[in-house]
Amino acid sequence: MSKEKILVIEDEEDILALIHFNLVKEGFRVECATTGEDGFKKAKDLRPSLILLDLMLPGMDGLDVCKRLRMAPETKDCPVIILTAKGEEHDIVKGLELGADDYVPKPFSSQVLIARIRAVLRRRVNPETRQEQGQPIQIHELYIHPGRNKVEAAGESVELTYSEFKILTLLASRPGWVFNRSQIVDAVHGEGYAVTDRAVDVQIVGLRKKLGACGNYIETVRGVGYRFKE
Ligand code: CA
Repeated sequence: MSKEKILVIEDEEDILALIHFNLVKEGFRVECATTGEDGFKKAKDLRPSLILLDLMLPGMDGLDVCKRLRMAPETKDCPVIILTAKGEEHDIVKGLELGADDYVPKPFSSQVLIARIRAVLRRRVNPETRQEQGQPIQIHELYIHPGRNKVEAAGESVELTYSEFKILTLLASRPGWVFNRSQIVDAVHGEGYAVTDRAVDVQIVGLRKKLGACGNYIETVRGVGYRFKE
């Protein structure tokens, strides 16, 4: 099966061993780091296909690592899944804002973890197909260029995560059309992806915040989902 290389950055040795065991069993190549500093260095040197990043690390914490991964040219496009413990829910939002692609709360089952890894690897942005993804959308003060993953709100360039960009593109492509959460999940992640509705809400909060005044164009339709204002 797959020989994708996964870098696991986790300081708790028993969790690390468990993840290592399960990923190897699934046919992944696995590299490990137990500190943020070492993890960041290995990410740059080893160029993994995906990084599993624990948030609570001694020294440089997971959010710091995430920020640095997104800034370094060698790692800026590498998918990151953050692992969060109970009580770190607010850090999930921060992590996603810093460019993490998904999160898995602890304790997790190995099946869920592996399903998430495969889903993130599947939707990894392929630079060769990027150019073919649709026409620019111009609506209100928003300019969305799907081919270039580029968004301008009222003339200002806005940095969005991959998921936020997909959600915005989906909503803005059919103004006035109501999308429920599972349609949004499908559009972002493809089929067969187990994700909570709450994850969609978290993404929408982040998206609105980044779009500033233009965030108001994303309307909540109570009990149903979201729509982009006509
Ligand atoms: Ca930890």
